[in-house]
Parts: sequence; structure tokens; C-alpha cells
Amino acid sequence: MRHRALLACLTGLAVLLVAGCGGGGGGTPAATAPSSPPPSAALPPEPAPSPTRAVPPKPRLRPLPAKLPAGLVRTTGTAKVALTFDDGPDPAWTPKVLDRLKAAKVTATFCVVGTQVRKHPGLLRRIVREGHQLCNHSWNHDLDLARRPVAEIRADLVRTNREIRRAVPKAKVPFYRQPGGRWTAEVVKVAKQLDMRSLHWTVDPQDWAKPTAATIEKRVKRSARPGAVVLLHDGGGNRAATLAACAKVIAGLKRDHGVARLT
Ligand SMILES: [Zn+2]
Repeated sequence: MRHRALLACLTGLAVLLVAGCGGGGGGTPAATAPSSPPPSAALPPEPAPSPTRAVPPKPRLRPLPAKLPAGLVRTTGTAKVALTFDDGPDPAWTPKVLDRLKAAKVTATFCVVGTQVRKHPGLLRRIVREGHQLCNHSWNHDLDLARRPVAEIRADLVRTNREIRRAVPKAKVPFYRQPGGRWTAEVVKVAKQLDMRSLHWTVDPQDWAKPTAATIEKRVKRSARPGAVVLLHDGGGNRAATLAACAKVIAGLKRDHGVARLT
């Protein structure tokens, strides 16, 4: 490689008199990507210049499919609707959401993130103790997880379930939800192999974008249909608006459709 680099530099010098020679591993991206490439008659083309060899190349991600893959759970299968809360458990918001659910006498599904479970196992225990359903939401909310190699997807999901069961031994985790809803057929397949159904949603009021509580309430009311799965968040940021919307959202859904836990 050294000889090649030297040769490239020497050849390049003939053309680019002022260009610095990036040999010896100290090259900069600018030096290895000149505006006019050196003549390469004597050299086979290098696949990719890598001035900093210590940094591994970025893994190639498989493309996202244009359509959602088959096999997603998107409705409850009954007339009743289901509430799902993502990105927790969170010490600021999850207890308050649990209080609201308890007051309304409904149960929900919590799509939990592994790193959050590790930090707040007591909250996970409360979620389970109060009769809610669990859903694996990846180890660290990796939006690109579904696009990674299958072995990496599997390791992430297994690690997350292991953390859940460290907090609640023998916890049932019947669902997986891909962060961002960025599903691929591969992640659905891995989840299935791990006995988890892939849980999408029907109604997304986009509470993560911090609309007002009134907007969240209006969006849910407008979009909810029999059997809807409603996506809300109890973690991942300030959830004051979600919390403020909870009481009315839940009351409205109970009145119009009935609320049931996913099974
Ligand atoms: Zn999420």
C-alpha cells in the first residue's frame, strides 16, 4: 500500500504540483479526494480511500420498503381500541401516565426501551403490577435497527427482552414495535422468531412533536375507529401535553369505542 500511495503521489505530483501528498496515513479527506483525480493507468482503482483506518466503514443499511411489510398488528381485532405508550419507562412521566390509566380503570401497552428499563426497573415492575402489557421497543431506540444485518437485529431484541426480564422475571413480551415505525420484513421475521408480534398503530396524533393537549385530543378523536391502536408517548422528552390530554382522550375513547388491552 505504501508503494502504491507513493506512486500515486508521485504521479499525482506531475499533474498537481501544489497538491500535498497524503502518504503515511496522515492524509486528510481533502488530500485523498482531489478535485482532479491522479492518473491511474498504473494503478487499479482503489475501492474507497480511507485516510483514517481506525474508523470502521459505516455498515450498509438495507433500504426501507416503500410499503409497510406484511404481518403487522395494526388493529385490536375487536371493536374496542387500545392505548400504547412508547419510549419509557421515564421517571418524570410514566408514573403520572400510570396514575391516569388507573383512575380511568383502563390498561394499556407500554413499548419500552431497553436502556430505560435498565435505569428504571422499578417503573417496569409497576407497569406489570398494574396489569399493563409489555412491548419491546429496541435497546436504544435505534431508528435504523430494521435496516441492519439480521444478526444485529436479533441481538438488540434479545438484549432488550433480557433487560425486561431482569426487572420482571418471566415477564411476557408479546409485542415488538420498531422505533419510528420504520419496519422491514426482516425485523418482523426476527420478532416472530422471538415470539413477538410486530405492533404498528392506527392512530398517531404525533404527540412526540409536542402539539398542545387540545390538538392531541382532537387528532385522536378525529382518527379513532373501532379497533384502533392509538400511539402515544410516556418517554423520550417532555410529555406534559400528552399527560394533559390523557384524561379526555381516554374518556372519549371509552365512551365512543371502549378501551381494552392488546392481547
Ligand atoms: Zn419510539
